[in-house]
Amino acid sequence: MENKKEMRKWLDDFNLTHPLVIAGPCSAETEEQVLKIAHELKNSDVSIFRAGIWKPRTRPGGFEGVGEIGLKWLTKAKAETGLLMAVEVATAAHCKLALENNIDVLWIGARTTANPFAVQEIADTLKGTDKIVLVKNPVNPDMALWLGGVERLYAAGIKKLGVIHRGFSTYQKTKYRNIPEWQIPIELQNKFPDLPLIIDPSHITGNRNMILEVTQQALDLNYDGMIIETHIDPDNAWSDAAQQVTPTALKQIFKDLKIRNQHSDADEYTSKMTKLRANIDILDDNLLELLGKRMKIADQIGQVKKDANVAVLQSNRWVEIQEKMIAEGLKKGLTQEFVTKLFKEIHQESIGHQEKIINGL
Ligand code: PEP
Ligand code: MN
Repeated sequence: MENKKEMRKWLDDFNLTHPLVIAGPCSAETEEQVLKIAHELKNSDVSIFRAGIWKPRTRPGGFEGVGEIGLKWLTKAKAETGLLMAVEVATAAHCKLALENNIDVLWIGARTTANPFAVQEIADTLKGTDKIVLVKNPVNPDMALWLGGVERLYAAGIKKLGVIHRGFSTYQKTKYRNIPEWQIPIELQNKFPDLPLIIDPSHITGNRNMILEVTQQALDLNYDGMIIETHIDPDNAWSDAAQQVTPTALKQIFKDLKIRNQHSDADEYTSKMTKLRANIDILDDNLLELLGKRMKIADQIGQVKKDANVAVLQSNRWVEIQEKMIAEGLKKGLTQEFVTKLFKEIHQESIGHQEKIINGL
């Protein structure tokens, strides 16, 4: 697939002076709940109303969505508020029902994007429609799989496209529900600058208190929009209660976000610098994260050496590491002097960690 301006035409046609906003509950629960939220969101920065009708659950037993009847509620919400309607589709049957009910935007969920058979089935069913289709990143951090989903739709003649960054699942405990791995969407954006990129801070954070922070980070990286789970009574939501915000809180988020003008020439310098700096900040965070992990392993080595009564410094191993790193560094455009200094410091910190363990400090 080539980068094509036509992919973002649907977004430009909104003629917005701010990033696109999609908002609404994780799940449609009752007709009353859908209508109440939609009415609270009309006449705001929200252009598209979202609601899950069929909910993919990791384990059976959770709320699996209200199903087809929810589409009628969305039709009513659209008639009453003028908001466009978006639902998640995972099968050919979902797509057919969504099309029959004139749903405007269809999104493919993270669990579905991970399965090329399912995405192909969706692409085949949607062939020839002019709906907007948004592809969430797959649960696993695999850019090719994500892009593959977009390519299957594009090949089926679907030109109104976009991607949603909802973070990646991880076995480690982190402050996020799904870790952002910002470098993946950034790489995608660099390859396809005309493919609209939308942040889903709700599923990344899993926590309503972090929504503003993650959305701001995304806007600093020139994302085109956001999808934020919004519920009239978040604590009693039937799914994803901890991450949903009220319509009032959502409007406060709009006020607090610093939205930078991306397209005016006067702002070009600021916009470029903000984006590049946001990139650097992410890489710096990754560097510290990796160094922290490296030192935890040094602690374990310290313990093993202590148990075996072996000296901390093993000179031959250190010489080997240095030589290998200098060679690798040169390939990446780093000078020998820099790599030597850097690894001396890292080695020193590592020895410090091991000594602490060996001396029982
Ligand atoms: C959702 O948007 O409610 C959802 C199920 O998201 P994801 O596919 O990102 O898990
Ligand atoms: Mn959800």
